[in-house]
Amino acid sequence: MVGITSWQQQVPIPQGYTGTNAWSIPLKPELSDTPISLKTNLLKGAVAIAANGVPIFNPLNNRGEDAFSIGELDQWGGHCGKADDYHYHIAPLHFEATAGKNPIAMALDGFAIYGSKEPDGTIMQALDTYHGHSINNGVYHYHATTTYPYFIGSMRGKITLDPTTIAPENQITPQAKMTPIRPAGEPLRGASITNFKSTGTNAYSLEYTANNLKGYVNYSWDATNKYTYTFIGTDGKSTTFFYIKK
Ligand SMILES: [Zn+2]
Ligand SMILES: [Zn+2]
Repeated sequence: MVGITSWQQQVPIPQGYTGTNAWSIPLKPELSDTPISLKTNLLKGAVAIAANGVPIFNPLNNRGEDAFSIGELDQWGGHCGKADDYHYHIAPLHFEATAGKNPIAMALDGFAIYGSKEPDGTIMQALDTYHGHSINNGVYHYHATTTYPYFIGSMRGKITLDPTTIAPENQITPQAKMTPIRPAGEPLRGASITNFKSTGTNAYSLEYTANNLKGYVNYSWDATNKYTYTFIGTDGKSTTFFYIKK
């Protein structure tokens, strides 16, 4: 969360992306005749899953703005949604250090997303307009880069669109659902997140700075799914809320 300068007072909590509440990735991806542009489509839901299981959303937020360039993302390229659900909006290039020659993410069309190197370890070759390529007649794949579109320009492979959604607010189906436990937060103008640390078992402290003063969100949960959030404002005032996750 550190590095976010446009924050809606959300913090990361676990989400139940298990069983049937899951995304689906084709084992045998197929090229599409009509690749779907992420500039004009898919501004809802995940478009890829990172190697650590965290979903990756469109690099444009739901207002069509580049989330990274307007300070909505932390140093890892992610932030939390309205359900306190952590997700990325760019591909996590820092995974390259541990992924080696493996992909750092998988797109929901079934094609892999690599970092700055080709699967054989050589330097990345030129990308097509979809932000990927097929080299030496190999399998198509995308690459993550540090500038827009970051990881996918268009979904090169076949995907299934949710028929109840319309562009640009359409989405790939199925989508795992997030579970909100509290009302969505409001933007906290002028705040930037300056620290985030674990303070015990299932307990975290987020520190933000506004007008050179520090504020905190200290939160934790127990085995009965009772969540405790204590908000300490830059004026020192403290308010605690309890929620039960159903
Ligand atoms: Zn987001
Ligand atoms: Zn490549």
